[in-house]
Amino acid sequence: AAPLLAVRDLTMAFPGRRGRTGGRGAPVRAVDGISFDLAAGETLGLVGESGCGKSTTGRMLVRLLEPTSGSVTFDGRDITRLSQGALRPLRRHLQMVFQDPHSSLNPRQTVARIISDPLLVQGWSAGDARRRAAELMELVGLIPEHIDRYPHEFSGGQAQRIGIARSLATSPRLIVADEPVSALDVSVQAQIVNLMERLRRELGLAYVFIAHDLSVVKRVSDRVAVMYLGRIVEIGDKKSLYDDPRHPYTRALLSAVPLPDPAAERRRERITLLGDPPSPAAPPPGCTFHPRCPKAQEVCRTERPLLRIADPGATREVACHFPGD
Ligand code: SF4
Ligand code: MG
Repeated sequence: AAPLLAVRDLTMAFPGRRGRTGGRGAPVRAVDGISFDLAAGETLGLVGESGCGKSTTGRMLVRLLEPTSGSVTFDGRDITRLSQGALRPLRRHLQMVFQDPHSSLNPRQTVARIISDPLLVQGWSAGDARRRAAELMELVGLIPEHIDRYPHEFSGGQAQRIGIARSLATSPRLIVADEPVSALDVSVQAQIVNLMERLRRELGLAYVFIAHDLSVVKRVSDRVAVMYLGRIVEIGDKKSLYDDPRHPYTRALLSAVPLPDPAAERRRERITLLGDPPSPAAPPPGCTFHPRCPKAQEVCRTERPLLRIADPGATREVACHFPGD
């Protein structure tokens, strides 16, 4: 079957800084040639440090941003260059959940209004939209009687449930969740992840679930893609990626995930990366990870490794000259 979402060579370049002489520097590639497929009902976890381009990628997938080049095909239709008018009937299928629930909800609107809004845009009557909003509140674990309250009357976790209810209003097929639990207390993070997992099963949703570490996406993802400086450096089936990470960056990220068993936690080797990720305005030559990579060799400084299948017969793709040794 054709994938629900087919992403090819997706790139977002911003104009370079204006120099003192008036000329511009080279364009900054915040996202640099990303490709993957997503099946209906599937979840891809998209992981990387802040500034790696994952939010920009997420916004391009639902066409809140128009890419500089490359394409996004949704359900067989290329949506990359559609006008806002042509996008409108597709909007209902492509929704987004944002990181900070309180700042993504209008403080002057009631929950009824916030959740109904996407429905009113689609031409629903006010009465039908309000009834649907109450049903959605129940579905996400909120009390429907609180429908006329304002966002500040809810906790962070509850506010994120409102954001999720809003994203579900139009019965979408794809939700891009951009770090939906990063701003929440650790104690409520699991509740929201579990809620999203249940909704996915019940409603047959596909997610692109963005997070900055590998622990958050472990439960919800079928596949995981690891991003570094605007590119995917490793992508594959969740189990095989967690059991046997091949890219040194994936290994470093995984070594930071706490293990449930304290004895295993003590035995385990932590990989500490040197320094911060470089700026996308000045990416290192060759493998962009080489200045921080514990395995870097001479070739890594000059030759860019391409994303390719790591083993014969494996589905995992890795962008490294020395995958897994
Ligand atoms: Fe490290 Fe070289 Fe692999 Fe890059 S290509 S991740 S520098 S070993
Ligand atoms: Mg972000």
